[in-house]
Amino acid sequence: MEFDVQKIRQDFPILSKKVNGYPLVYFDNAATSQKPQIVIDSIVDYYSNYNANIHRGVHTLSQVATDAYELSRKKIRKHFNASKDCEIIFTSGCTHGINIVASGFSSLLKKGDEIIVSAMEHHSNIVPWQMLCEKTGVLLKVIPMNEDGELIISEYENLLSNNTKLVFVNHVSNSLGTVNPIKDIIDKAHQKGAAVLIDGAQATSHLIPDFQELGVDFYVTSAHKMCGPTGVGILYGKEEWLKKLPPYQGGGEMIKEVTFKKTTYADLPHKFEAGTPNISAGISFGVAIDYLNTIGLKKIATYENELLTYATDQLMKIEGVKIYGTSKNKVAVISFNIGTIHPYDIGTIIDKLGIAVRTGHHCTQPIMDFYKIPGTVRASFAFYNTKQEIDVFIEAIKKAKMMLS
Ligand SMILES: *Cc1c(COP(=O)(O)O)cnc(C)c1O
Repeated sequence: MEFDVQKIRQDFPILSKKVNGYPLVYFDNAATSQKPQIVIDSIVDYYSNYNANIHRGVHTLSQVATDAYELSRKKIRKHFNASKDCEIIFTSGCTHGINIVASGFSSLLKKGDEIIVSAMEHHSNIVPWQMLCEKTGVLLKVIPMNEDGELIISEYENLLSNNTKLVFVNHVSNSLGTVNPIKDIIDKAHQKGAAVLIDGAQATSHLIPDFQELGVDFYVTSAHKMCGPTGVGILYGKEEWLKKLPPYQGGGEMIKEVTFKKTTYADLPHKFEAGTPNISAGISFGVAIDYLNTIGLKKIATYENELLTYATDQLMKIEGVKIYGTSKNKVAVISFNIGTIHPYDIGTIIDKLGIAVRTGHHCTQPIMDFYKIPGTVRASFAFYNTKQEIDVFIEAIKKAKMMLS
């Protein structure tokens, strides 16, 4: 069946809006994706028809809400092929998930232990680990990358040692689009007895990681980059690891019994789910996954790849354009600069024409330092974008270039 992008676009109310008097061209999907009506409706449905706190009430609405929330957890477990529902912890997003693991490991690691990060991480997969290092005296090592924006795996092999306890890398780089060879990274870490956390924030909108096949120890992602709402995500952890890690926050929901002498913690997943969660968001995360599966992630990836090739070819025709992130294995993200024009100026001009891109360091300052640039213009595509939109974008970039040079 043909990929009917015009039909798909009708699912997203925002795509027919005008911004600054022009039809919206939304190329900031790596920051957050747009939401289909069915996801928006599911949020309204929860608050209109069965709003109640979950896991507590004996009353009917509480049970309906609990069932919907837990059904969503099951959907997510199935989608990513985790072996048990209790291995899926609802979080407020990727950042929260990483902090749960980093904070937990700070009580498991000691001076002399080593942990490994990559040169292309989002700040949210750097800073929590630096905080852990400050607390514990653990050594942080960095996997370098090459000019194409690919991790240098032979260097990674050299960094691994019997002291390595944990490796954390992103599945897909938000600034470069590079898809990292995570299966290989995981296998090599496991040979040294180290655990691996994968930051999947940019991956799960383009592909479906299979948690069991990967053998990954921890995997985090956010719903809002995959057509779901903000304020919810998941931390997947192997059951044995989640049992070993201490809880992150204390509060209601995460306890078995509380006295002033001693508190015992609830079983998984509740041990890591203190307090009332974002219930409607958890439920609509499941709806977003159903929506993506109805279209099919394989079809989505194929179509987005066409957009990537088309946009790359058109951009490269503009003199002075340099693209950062030129791996063969990449998703539909293009980071670029034109000569010495500041990315912010380009972003500002094309915004006046209704085009949304991101400019700056994209929460990845080490990547910008590597290329010795202050930032880039980043256009990131989703399956509801079109070649016509790319044409509009290319014309706008040419206009901006003319005005600024
Ligand atoms: C967006 C993003 C994050 C942070 O996700 P939040 O939803 O803001 O917590 C982490 N890593 C990568 C690669 C991202 O793109």
